[in-house]
Amino acid sequence: MRYISIIFLCLAFKATAQLVPDHIQQIREIALAEQRGHTRIGLDGISTNPSNFDVKYYRCEWEVDPAVRYINGKVTVYYVITDAATDISLDLMAPLIVDSVMQHGVALNINQTSTTIQINFPSTVAAGTLDSLSVYYQGVPTTTGFGSFIQDNHAGTPVMWSLSEPYGARDWWPCKNWNDDKADSIDVYVTAPSQYTAASNGLLQSITPISGARNVTHWKHRYPIATYLMCFAVTNYATFNNTVQLGAVTLPMQTFCYPEDLVSFQNGTQNVLDAMQLYNGLIGDYPFMNEKYGHVQFGWGGGMEHQTSTFIVSIVEYLITHELAHQWFGDKITCGSWQDIWLNEGFATFFSSYYTENKYPQFTLSIRKDDIDYITAQPDGSVWVNDTTDVNRVFDNRLSYSKGSHVLYMLRWMLGDTVFFNAIRNYQSDPTLIYNFARTSDLKRHFELASGRDLTSFFNEWYTGQGYPSYNVEWANGGYGNVSIKMNQTTSHPSVSFFELPVALKFKNATQDTTVIVDNTVNGEAFIKNIGFVADTVLIDPDIWLITRNNTTTKLPDIILPIKLKSFDATKNGCTANINFVVSTATNVASMEMEYSTDGIAFAKAGTIKNIVNTGTEKTYNFSYPMQPGKNYFFRLKIINDDGSYTYGPVSKVNSCGTGTINIVITPNPVNNIATVTGMAKGKNTITIYGANAQLIQTIGVNNNSTTINFDKYASGIYMVQVQAEDGQVTYKKIVKK
Ligand SMILES: [Zn+2]
Repeated sequence: MRYISIIFLCLAFKATAQLVPDHIQQIREIALAEQRGHTRIGLDGISTNPSNFDVKYYRCEWEVDPAVRYINGKVTVYYVITDAATDISLDLMAPLIVDSVMQHGVALNINQTSTTIQINFPSTVAAGTLDSLSVYYQGVPTTTGFGSFIQDNHAGTPVMWSLSEPYGARDWWPCKNWNDDKADSIDVYVTAPSQYTAASNGLLQSITPISGARNVTHWKHRYPIATYLMCFAVTNYATFNNTVQLGAVTLPMQTFCYPEDLVSFQNGTQNVLDAMQLYNGLIGDYPFMNEKYGHVQFGWGGGMEHQTSTFIVSIVEYLITHELAHQWFGDKITCGSWQDIWLNEGFATFFSSYYTENKYPQFTLSIRKDDIDYITAQPDGSVWVNDTTDVNRVFDNRLSYSKGSHVLYMLRWMLGDTVFFNAIRNYQSDPTLIYNFARTSDLKRHFELASGRDLTSFFNEWYTGQGYPSYNVEWANGGYGNVSIKMNQTTSHPSVSFFELPVALKFKNATQDTTVIVDNTVNGEAFIKNIGFVADTVLIDPDIWLITRNNTTTKLPDIILPIKLKSFDATKNGCTANINFVVSTATNVASMEMEYSTDGIAFAKAGTIKNIVNTGTEKTYNFSYPMQPGKNYFFRLKIINDDGSYTYGPVSKVNSCGTGTINIVITPNPVNNIATVTGMAKGKNTITIYGANAQLIQTIGVNNNSTTINFDKYASGIYMVQVQAEDGQVTYKKIVKK
């Protein structure tokens, strides 16, 4: 969902590309003001009813008149009992009165409390039993959150709509109101006075006139759906149809708008059709390809991603591209807890930005800068929702929307577009997640599998951690086109002491510029990069990929090395570091020492370089050094002049050699039953096995550098084996089960 302002809407009707950045700022300011006005909904927003049944299907029959705030309903639930039960409980708010609950023509005993109807069976029902019951109820619904059940007017005509996110479905119909159980399908029948039209989820089946000048409108949806994504709206809608070509499928796009806004909706619909093709190619097939996509106009100041049937106040580009992205992120895969709302809102915001950057590339940098300024306007706050009872916190625009989106931007920057979008497509096709619920750990797993990298620190810093880094880059020209760089960092919140990120640095002078990337893993880390010219300025993160603020640079006096290094590279062979460097010119050099460090900051002498050639002759030097397992090593040259003064050369880093050499081999491959894993690090190893679609199969702890895995009970196919050593090093191997 997305809240926007009326001021924004008025401007948006005459929107031109030039207005885009200003508009985004307005959305935020007014959204923030509005959120402060919402009331805290309290702990009772979360159902505490026992989950002893699995919902299969809802048939909802609702009678309403948009002129009167009232609902008369019959909801039929099909369910499977999961634990032998004498009763089940549905969520329903007390202002509504349950007239009866019927099963096989018999009225069941019920106890209705302020939030619940407990339905008692005549005898114990065995686990595995599929059955159904119907709840007859009526009354004036309460309203929570963003206005779960609203009666209003537009241009003098009554309108009624629902908006149940996050906890409001139970305000107006009896349901299982938790984010852990989707119905497999639904039918919705809306009875209303015949001058009105009723919209809901899925495909329109029929409109049947009945006595009393009323129509019964039947909508049918045959995909799994969460209760907060079910909807209805009734007024004197004008309707029109479009289609969009998605691969081989011609998908219907259906619009229900107020007659007074028909022209603007007709003019604006092409944008959502364009976005549909963009997303469909990038993320994967539109999730409800057998049915349709739709827009339904309502009076709440924003949009709500009801499944296949987005409710919007107006056809604004930024809003409709956000809500459309929710069909993949929110509807097809739903956040499994409101703590993980960024899996809905961060993604919808990200893809709407992606659409905007594609369409209006000239505004990319100004929009990103605006976003980052807004996210870092306060020093704290995590993407992870620390209080799910507070609807303002769940839908915090700065944290759940903007920061969530820019955490995705940073993953895209770190991993590159190919890996980033592969991970997203894998997440969107994971059979354990699709049309179901996901947690942040599921998303993390997909980014790790696609990249082969351990992203635990990244998620600790950016998902649960708060705040952002501020960089001070100390730098100097080092002669021969080299720059020497020191990356200093402070953080805005004590929950994170250091943010580990690759940082782009753009060095320039009046006529030249070049951008280098330093992979900054520790505070105070030093780098030497060859840029090929003498720079006078450096810009930090010039394309604004990172969430940072208050960055500064300090230019130090030039450092001219008395040698010209052609190269300086440290590599490892087992636990021996080999430093190889080529000197093309050396003058007045008395001696050279190799220094090492295990933190990149404090260096000590590793040894002396012998047989220095003090001429213009090119010479290659080799130096070896034993490394202790489990530590990263940094090496640099100390160059001592004839007069006793000295300078340092560039730093080269060697990653930890682990707790012993890692050379993992799994045999046989393909395997029938027992596979042997050898070559793991010494000490504790964790083996995690994933299926072809990255679903978690099994985790095994091993206190050895070899073990066996029994694939006997696994289905045929491809599996990914992840081996994590005690020091965190991760190795991936593919294995085929015959
Ligand atoms: Zn949203």
